[in-house]
Amino acid sequence: MSGPVTTEDAIATVAAPAATSGPVLEITPSRTASVGGLSVMRALPRRGRRTVGAWCFLDHFGPTEIRPSIGPHPHIGLQTVTWLLEGDMLHTDSLGSEQRVRPGQLNLMTAGRGVAHAEEGYSEGTSHGVQLWIAQPDATRNAAPAFEHHERLPRVDVDGWSATVITGGFAGEQSPARADTPLVGVELSTRGAGGSVPLAPRFEHAIVVLTGDVAIADGELVRPGTLAYLGIGREWLRLDADDEATVLLIGGEPFGAEVLMWWNYVARTRDEIDEAHRDWEAQSERFGQVASHLARIPSVPPIWQR
Ligand code: MN
Repeated sequence: MSGPVTTEDAIATVAAPAATSGPVLEITPSRTASVGGLSVMRALPRRGRRTVGAWCFLDHFGPTEIRPSIGPHPHIGLQTVTWLLEGDMLHTDSLGSEQRVRPGQLNLMTAGRGVAHAEEGYSEGTSHGVQLWIAQPDATRNAAPAFEHHERLPRVDVDGWSATVITGGFAGEQSPARADTPLVGVELSTRGAGGSVPLAPRFEHAIVVLTGDVAIADGELVRPGTLAYLGIGREWLRLDADDEATVLLIGGEPFGAEVLMWWNYVARTRDEIDEAHRDWEAQSERFGQVASHLARIPSVPPIWQR
């Protein structure tokens, strides 16, 4: 999906020092945004919270009967993670990948110096899922683009939660997905009760509730439409649920670099974003061609150019 980051999200400001020195509980309401005809709940970036580890963008969409449809658009300097709870999507990119993704499977696209893709709902019915971006470190962000699909991911039961390890390691299981920085992404589901899940104390973490109501640690209730930032230094996190619930847990080592985001670009400087904008508008070979019946999305001029 596209993530039109604009002035309302982050812009033109670099990431604030993100990490705290210890455990905290900050609950931030998500912002309503529109992407590909869908109303989404944007949990990241927010003015007060730009990154959690290398995770720099999180849109939660649905459940909805509207099928998402996002035409070809570019990315630089990030990985896109598409993760569904219901429905399916077709990913098409300028590397020649064409891949349907279903609930429990991972589509992971690495933009590096530049890639373009389109995404759309594949079947009729309910769509529900998240798209996240992971900022790439300097070591890989100017390297070649790539795409991975993971049909099966490790699962592990912890206390009252069933975990699917999307990326990184969790409770002794390791995802096969490429990770350019130390991070974790896990889907946790429960049929009720919940319990305590282990965390890496050197990581900062946050959760987004995807379905149901979940009480965190001291009983604070979290529902879909908010980001609960947990800080750093936790070894365990207590998550209680009276009924069925699904939670996305993200975390990582605090991202060392200052991140500049505009539209679908993650960079460090305005010049890098200006260049990406020019290259997409010029239909440069940098981003390649996407075999899609959907219309190409024009780049949004950076606000500092206006
Ligand atoms: Mn996209």
